[in-house]
Amino acid sequence: MCGIVGIISGSEVSNEIYESLLCLQHRGQDSAGIGTYSGKFHIKKGHGLVREVFGRKDIGYLAGNMGIGQVRYPTIGGASIDDLQPFRVSSPYGIMMAHNGNIFNFWQLKEELFQKDLRMVNSNNDLEVILNVFAYELSRFKLDDFFDSICEAVKSVHTRVKGAYSVVGMIAGKGLIAFRDPHGIRPLVWGRRTVNGKTEHIFSSENTMFAITGFDFYRDVAPGELVFVDLNGEVHTRRITEKEFHPCIFEYVYFARVDATLNGVNVYKSRLYMGENLGKKINRLFPNLEIDLVVPAPQSATTAALSCAHELGVRYSESIVKNVYIGRSFIMPGQEQRRRANTYKLSAIEVEIRGKNILVVDDSIVRGTVSKHIVQMLRQNGAKKVYFASASPALKYPDLYGIDLPTQDEFVAYNRTEEQICEYIGADLLVYQDLEDLIEAVKRKNDHKFSKPHCAYFNGDYPTNDVTEEVLDEIEAIRKKERQEDKLKKQLETN
Ligand code: 5GP
Ligand code: MG
Repeated sequence: MCGIVGIISGSEVSNEIYESLLCLQHRGQDSAGIGTYSGKFHIKKGHGLVREVFGRKDIGYLAGNMGIGQVRYPTIGGASIDDLQPFRVSSPYGIMMAHNGNIFNFWQLKEELFQKDLRMVNSNNDLEVILNVFAYELSRFKLDDFFDSICEAVKSVHTRVKGAYSVVGMIAGKGLIAFRDPHGIRPLVWGRRTVNGKTEHIFSSENTMFAITGFDFYRDVAPGELVFVDLNGEVHTRRITEKEFHPCIFEYVYFARVDATLNGVNVYKSRLYMGENLGKKINRLFPNLEIDLVVPAPQSATTAALSCAHELGVRYSESIVKNVYIGRSFIMPGQEQRRRANTYKLSAIEVEIRGKNILVVDDSIVRGTVSKHIVQMLRQNGAKKVYFASASPALKYPDLYGIDLPTQDEFVAYNRTEEQICEYIGADLLVYQDLEDLIEAVKRKNDHKFSKPHCAYFNGDYPTNDVTEEVLDEIEAIRKKERQEDKLKKQLETN
């Protein structure tokens, strides 16, 4: 998962791009990059958190009134410096891009670009493939109207590139572009502000930075739509490919920050409704269950746990504490690192827990590492009973659209019944949200702009209709190989 931003304004943008990336930090902590344009491109990227990558000098060096930025959490590609965004090509015009998403025909396109289009993709980052397809196609279209040409280039991206992607980019001497894949799987919001009578624009994965940068929410970029803001501030938009809108529901479950509103749906509200629906299910299935405390798995589950406690009429207690300075445990590549990170990241407040029946609410259960650890920790701190509830259904199917979910057999729900999962994590009871209740939570306010969100990791229904058994097998094989290489690398490092 990644976060992206693009700004075009009447003054220097690098500081605002930097501030925006700080507001997107939760979407990726692996690396960060900023590119700007002031008649020439400037770029700075590196590993680590936003505040570790950029210093005051960099912000000064990144000159220009147009810029893009990205925080990265890799789904394809390793942690090599060659794989960091943004990417840039010199021809045609000079183009720089950043994206959030995942391309599952990456290897095939990389080869095709090299053999047929005579273009070299140097990295293992899927954005470089999008950029090269776009650049190649743009170099073929020299239509009278420049916007028509970039529309043709995006159309070719939509047909050749398979997967999910939201993209921001800059074309030298021309302007800023933002576009979304045909199904709008990854989010992209658009904000505007007026400065000295001129309209300025921001495009970002989330609107979490709009208030602090003075932008007002304007609208979401539509699925399959291209927006182009030229250097004079003129806006051109076109829906290039019309397909059904299937935004990823996991944005609401886990990824997005609670103050974001994506595709018409406020993340905080949707999480409140998720907790409420979960509480209703627990009441319905286990009306006599004695629960003394509802405890969230910090911190992505706090909102759902709060409303779940309210629904159950049980006291809410934040008695599991997370050290936020360690970072998300998913960042650790191997299972062993992940397990170790969990043990020093979470602690429990014994005086709250001892002798109580606890219901832990988490947003999701992936490998079961976190849940198993929490159950164990609560028991060590004297809990009488530990019940576990997940605000989303069991994750079972690989994601191909930008979430780094594990290979299928790494899912704790793979080939296990709910009883077996409960046993695996060591809980006294396990309750999963039903998929229809999760969807209801996201759609309840009726502000949503889609009929069917993408939920393939829960139900195996891949919205792009091009995910065959073959594709899944191929992806599984690549991920397994990557995991193996990761493991070997780690072993070499520790030896
Ligand atoms: P597990 O230990 O079951 O593998 O992971 C479950 C935990 O991971 C949950 O607490 C959830 O908040 C978190 N989680 C779920 N999906 C993701 C993800 O894609 N990235 C990161 N960093 N954490 C995730
Ligand atoms: Mg969590």
